[in-house]
Amino acid sequence: MTPYEQIAAWLTSAKSAVAFTGAGISTESGIPDFRSPGGVWATSTPVMYQDFLDDADARYEYWRQKSISHADFMESGPNVGHQLLAQWEQAGLLNAVITQNIDGLHHVAGSYRVLELHGTAREIQCLDCNYRGDADPWVKQFLAEDAVPPCPECTGRLKHATISFGQQLDPEVLQEAAKRSENADLYIVLGSSLVVEPAATLPLLAKRNGAKLVIINRDSTPHDRIAHQILNESIGDALSKIADHCPQQE
Ligand SMILES: [Zn+2]
Repeated sequence: MTPYEQIAAWLTSAKSAVAFTGAGISTESGIPDFRSPGGVWATSTPVMYQDFLDDADARYEYWRQKSISHADFMESGPNVGHQLLAQWEQAGLLNAVITQNIDGLHHVAGSYRVLELHGTAREIQCLDCNYRGDADPWVKQFLAEDAVPPCPECTGRLKHATISFGQQLDPEVLQEAAKRSENADLYIVLGSSLVVEPAATLPLLAKRNGAKLVIINRDSTPHDRIAHQILNESIGDALSKIADHCPQQE
């Protein structure tokens, strides 16, 4: 049995399979990893959350950086990896997607149960009154006026609905992700180096509770030695080969 056949067999028989995705799935959509040489942080220092709260100049710098990455997000679309995960959820094979990514591409692909650990850059949120809305018109307003837009409800501080450096993860999202990980019987890591928290811990929760652990990543990860299957190749290619061995849905 090939690894693809084996993973397909696990996926077909799983009752609560979970996919955990990181930057690697989105680089296949042309979105640069922020930390990579082409990413925005190669030339800019990220704005810390406390500075955003306290300082109008920091808020301007934040919006300037976000308007650059926003263009990358809006120009990109989901790739075959995102699409297959959405199809597997619709077919009842996949229970949920937990992601470190903020590009929203799982939603665009049609995934429904998505836990975005670091929030979404497709929306903005007011830190003062919790107003939320699509990010796109606000980024356009920032670029047109070269000024940080105020909240339309309370004139408060608008920020992308993502987790900044120095900002706590949303405890509800984190708790739900931990619960889904504990209850998983198959855990497929896709494009995450599993170094930063909670990415380092969640697969361990799954494994400890009896899940089969599959890691699909270009490079090695600290959890490779406890994984049941490891594929060091493109996520789109790997998932396509796995899908070839899953039962046809129509
Ligand atoms: Zn507000």
